[in-house]
Amino acid sequence: ARAQAMEIQESPDVTYADIGGLDDEIREVQEAVEDPLTQPERFEKVGVEPPSGVLLHGPPGTGKTMLAKAVANQTDATFIKMAGSELVRKFIGEGSRMVRDLFELAAEREPSIIFIDEIDAVAAKRTDSKTSGDAEVQRTMMQLLSEMDGFEDRGEVRLMAATNRFDMLDRAILRPGRFDRLIEVPEPTREARAEILRIHTQSMNIAADVDFDRLARETEGFNGAQLESLSTEAGMFAIRDDRETVEMADFRDAVEKLETAAEGDSPAYT
Ligand code: ATP
Repeated sequence: ARAQAMEIQESPDVTYADIGGLDDEIREVQEAVEDPLTQPERFEKVGVEPPSGVLLHGPPGTGKTMLAKAVANQTDATFIKMAGSELVRKFIGEGSRMVRDLFELAAEREPSIIFIDEIDAVAAKRTDSKTSGDAEVQRTMMQLLSEMDGFEDRGEVRLMAATNRFDMLDRAILRPGRFDRLIEVPEPTREARAEILRIHTQSMNIAADVDFDRLARETEGFNGAQLESLSTEAGMFAIRDDRETVEMADFRDAVEKLETAAEGDSPAYT
């Protein structure tokens, strides 16, 4: 039962090249997570401790999970993902036990990367709310803190987490020795949107009239996940029309479709 809540992948197939527009963020992740795994002697020689944990924060659908998977790919590490919401359990002690299992499994499978998505679900600031289960969530977080603190010689296990709600986090989780390296992952810029569109249409049969720079200008506010849907939708329009190539008009129709779908409920597609 414990493994069900975790997603375990040996060396996931996402690479840095699959990530559009996050060059600086990729460099930071390489420095903070990849280099300590692949060249630990460089840190030892200089006498500097690599970051204990890396927290990726920013709006949804911008590539945080991709970044974590790409490091695991690059380092041939086991990628172990756990959603923070999965750690919020009804039964006393269940959440803490899952946290223990998570770290235990990571140690067994090293080199490995633990990735806790939606960490805010377990590490939110304590509010005055009397929500039942609050105390239990607090216990789970305590267990997480204690695992991180007791993780002196972490060997080839690296810890990463992500959140869309940085403001909500309990600062205790950001202290030195815990998530002490923060990397902000922003919404894609116009250039990044063009790159993301190119990445997601790589295997598609694209007509000569398709202008990605132009599409990037017309998709302001779209995140990476939405641009991926846009590419798929454009392809669907071509198929519906019984064509073998995807044209600019298909992308425009797809933009319209996604924008219409998004109307009314913002933030869209989250
Ligand atoms: P969330 O906070 O909602 O979990 P996230 O930031 O972790 O989101 P991902 O899961 O990494 O987002 O991205 C979702 C999907 O969107 C990816 O599988 C990918 O197809 C696409 N995507 C998002 N960002 C990018 C990007 N920068 N480059 C290419 N594809 C992207």
